[in-house]
Amino acid sequence: MEDAQLQLIIDLHRHADRQGPGGEAETQQALTLAGLDRSRPLTIADIGCGTGASTIQLAKMLDATITAVDFLPVFLDELQTKAKNQGLADRISVLNGSMDALPFADESFDVIWSEGAIYNMGFEKGVSTWRRFLKPGGKLIVSEITWLGANRPPELQAYWDNAYPEIDLASAKIGILERHGYRLEAYFSLPPHCWLQNYYYPLQQRFEAFLQRHGHDAQAKELVDNEREEIALYETYSDYYSYGVYIARKI
Ligand code: SAH
Repeated sequence: MEDAQLQLIIDLHRHADRQGPGGEAETQQALTLAGLDRSRPLTIADIGCGTGASTIQLAKMLDATITAVDFLPVFLDELQTKAKNQGLADRISVLNGSMDALPFADESFDVIWSEGAIYNMGFEKGVSTWRRFLKPGGKLIVSEITWLGANRPPELQAYWDNAYPEIDLASAKIGILERHGYRLEAYFSLPPHCWLQNYYYPLQQRFEAFLQRHGHDAQAKELVDNEREEIALYETYSDYYSYGVYIARKI
């Protein structure tokens, strides 16, 4: 991706609460289902953390030290400001790097958490590569674009074949986890309000000011058009896909 385009993406998303679909109640639900051992401090990696929606919530709710990873330093700066303002800075450290080249030692984390991000390297590559960073019995909590049923309209299939061909049924994703040394412990899919109220509607609210900031230039318009297309697609076809949240144990 060229730099100008990346700068636009950063500018459109940096002041948002989250950079992808999700929700506090759903992060809490995943945490409950993960049944973590709370008797001792936990070490957690939050991979593709963005400006830290889940990182901050986990830091508030757990006795944990969290390493928040993203390849965009601007997002990590936002996260650190939030952490400082909320008195959580001593529990969160940030790592600017790519999720497909993480510098962690083997068996260094109790928990790997990743919301709305693993598609950037692909689900199978992600879960197989990250496994060694988990301690034996450690937990992987990851959200991934997932078909909600076996049949879908050709227009929607065509869109996703282009955008993310790894999209698949939960049963297929669970099979991948099983083949790569995990046991599935729980699964649920994000309800529509995680996409609409929590992510797309606030994003829509920012379009006009964003376009103005960039003098309605062609690249800024193109980015907004793409986002609008993605939103319209979701509004039409929300019955067919969502993020699945997979809670798995390393075996
Ligand atoms: N977890 C956050 C952000 C999701 S958006 C939330 O739920 O709000 C996906 C995030 O992954 C973005 O912050 C993006 O900068 C980051 N990302 C994309 N490719 C990456 C890569 N190769 N390595 C690390 N982070 C990446």
